[in-house]
Amino acid sequence: MLAIGVQNVAWEKASLSSWLDFAQENSAKWLDIVFEYYTSPPFLTAKAARQLRRQAEEKGISLSGHLPYLASAVDFNPYRQAATRKLMLESIRFASISGMAMLTVHPPYPAWPETIDYVARLQRVAQKEYATLARAAKRADVTLAIENVEPFNTADDLRAFVDAFDLQVTMDIGHWNISGKGHYKTLLKAFKGIVANMHIHDNDGRGDRHWPLGTGNIDWRAVFSTAKQHGFKGPAIIENMSRPDLVQSLEFLRRSGVMGRMRAWDSRSKK
Ligand SMILES: [Zn+2]
Repeated sequence: MLAIGVQNVAWEKASLSSWLDFAQENSAKWLDIVFEYYTSPPFLTAKAARQLRRQAEEKGISLSGHLPYLASAVDFNPYRQAATRKLMLESIRFASISGMAMLTVHPPYPAWPETIDYVARLQRVAQKEYATLARAAKRADVTLAIENVEPFNTADDLRAFVDAFDLQVTMDIGHWNISGKGHYKTLLKAFKGIVANMHIHDNDGRGDRHWPLGTGNIDWRAVFSTAKQHGFKGPAIIENMSRPDLVQSLEFLRRSGVMGRMRAWDSRSKK
């Protein structure tokens, strides 16, 4: 079956069970949960995690997650850094209890001013912070995957994280459409075997629009055939800005035939 998932719309304050319903109604096999608006108590409790796990199992939906990204994982302000680290670690714990197979983490965001000295310091702090997250994820038996996001949007950028912290990769096709058309072809090859999941959304090549699939200039047929050729096991997570946009993307995948014959594709679900 298709290893296609949807990501919840983080700023829509809906319950996670309503998102499980949405995934099921639209025949998505995975639900990717963003740890943003669900992060204040009592959301990140073991009880809520166990409940989510039970509901997902009942509906046959596999779970994955996206660590908070509105704050950088690396911050020179010790107060913000401590708060972010706590939030990330609690999210990893929640992911573990709820049975999420994988978690996506963004690279750090350099803030103004981006001097060479600043970036060097950022990298030194990143060493410590990402090592902490990687250790926690390993202990929790959750695959941690680094996502390509500007300004860390090349194979070398990702390779540095993958090698230093033994991470896998979240391949965001939309982000790579901005940095260079067809870029993903060499990258799917370069990270063969360690692409934990793909993020799929469309754009015009100029900005990170997160449009429904088929409304931008990405050649999805080529994306899926390349992914298949390089042994990608899924899931592909649709990242759009609203529920109607997610429905439109799923319709596009069903009707356009861009995914080709998918029956042979495996699922990376823990189940
Ligand atoms: Zn993404």
